Amino acid sequence: MGGRAGKLFAVLAGVCVAGYQLVPESPWWKSAWQIGIGYGAVAAVLLGARRLEPHQRLPWWCFAFGLFANASGIAVAIYSSKVLHVDESPTPADPLFLLLYPACAVGFALLIKRREPRRNWAAMVDASTFTTGLGLLAWVYVIEPAAFGEQTSLPGRIIQIAYPIGDLLLLAMLTRLVRSGGSRGSAFWWITGSGIAFFGGDTTWVVLGNLGIDIDDIRVLHRGVDSIFLIAFCLFAVAALHPSARDLDRAAVQRAPRLSTAMLASLTVASLIAPAVLAVQLYTDTLNDGAAIVAGSTVLFLLVVLRMWQLVREVERQADRVRTLSREDELTGLPNRRAWKDEMPRALEMARRGTVAVTIAMIDLDHFKRFNDSYGHPAGDRLLKDAAAAWGAALREGDILARYGGEEFIALLPDATAGEAVHILQRVLRATPLGQSFSAGLACWDGSESPEELTARADAALYEAKAAGRHRIVTSQPVAPAPASPTAVVAQL
Ligand code: GH3
Ligand code: MG
Ligand code: MG
Repeated sequence: MGGRAGKLFAVLAGVCVAGYQLVPESPWWKSAWQIGIGYGAVAAVLLGARRLEPHQRLPWWCFAFGLFANASGIAVAIYSSKVLHVDESPTPADPLFLLLYPACAVGFALLIKRREPRRNWAAMVDASTFTTGLGLLAWVYVIEPAAFGEQTSLPGRIIQIAYPIGDLLLLAMLTRLVRSGGSRGSAFWWITGSGIAFFGGDTTWVVLGNLGIDIDDIRVLHRGVDSIFLIAFCLFAVAALHPSARDLDRAAVQRAPRLSTAMLASLTVASLIAPAVLAVQLYTDTLNDGAAIVAGSTVLFLLVVLRMWQLVREVERQADRVRTLSREDELTGLPNRRAWKDEMPRALEMARRGTVAVTIAMIDLDHFKRFNDSYGHPAGDRLLKDAAAAWGAALREGDILARYGGEEFIALLPDATAGEAVHILQRVLRATPLGQSFSAGLACWDGSESPEELTARADAALYEAKAAGRHRIVTSQPVAPAPASPTAVVAQL
């Protein structure tokens, strides 16, 4: 079936929503049209869910249930208003309308949990910031006036408060979903769009109400707001029918998205809501919500500090990782050449202060190319890894082994004379795995030469060991006082 059913539904839904603008100005006609679209969307969501694996269906059933209750609310509303003449809030339709929020919130929560089995604290802080900022707005302009207004009965007030709370719940879930890791196919964006449309529709309703505009009086306005809800219904259905709905609950492999400029700007706006509300009330000389503004701004401030702390911790963790990676050889886990270069001057300085001997050994596997050619590159890698571990174990406590490059290693033997170093290196040579061998060049520091000069002498001794037939350790003689022969073969195994 692919995405054909989704496309077909999208076209049909588009025609129906456009057609709604032309429906006669009769409450029965309008309600019937809305209910038709609502139930159509429910059927499409259930069809989409049926095409998923059984364990993937639950969130979609929650969405379908929420949509079904909401669409049924339209039917109950028109019946109770036009037949029973019940217009006082709460109407029997309100509980059905309200069921949309918890049902969708549970659906979103299930998806989020499956997409991100591990807790994502950063996303939770972001979601809390948005919800607190908009929660303060909702409190000042909707909840508080509804709760303490004189107009309606207690049940009526509770119902009026329940709508903005439902919207805040939806907003929290949406932000959490958008900040989560995981697949971002079309289905992801369709359900996000649907949530935004429900939230946007409710907000438009409230804002127009607060501006004193009765939208029932203005045809284009009430049709427009109704259409936002109809589009929200249909987007859920398009998401359910889209092939990418299958990936929607797949556990995230990539990390949650980074803090983009747009997200940072949105978080900034949300955090500035408290001072903005204060400014408006000061300007209009109606400072009625001081306590709420203090509470809201305190929570927002703490959330911003918490987010900053999370980001700093993340940067520190990454800096540690980069530092480790830049100084460690990935294959063997040994210090790499960069780490060695940093370590060498420090070791020589320690030796100078303690007036003790220090010897370095340049080690190179023999005929490693041949080993690679015979057993394959991965086997060569394993040999490098195992050899590094075996040599490290054969060295003394305090000796440093580093990977110098390729199959070349370098060892620092503090407090070891050339003679002692030979014994140690012989032990190391015997530890080489798989019957392989190495050649090594030893150089004992003369007390004044630079790290580069010392290394060059060890390298020259290694070269001699290779030239002399490999599988041996050659000690370089100090340059001054000049010996008769620059080097001498010390050990041959
Ligand atoms: P010699 O006894 O003269 O040192 O000969 P060799 O074959 O050991 O040295 P050569 O310089 O001719 O070849 C070194 C080989 O080491 C070539 C290169 O492909 C291999 N090599 C370098 N780094 C790695 C690595 O990380 N993994 C593997 N598997 N091979 C590597
Ligand atoms: Mg080699
Ligand atoms: Mg080499």
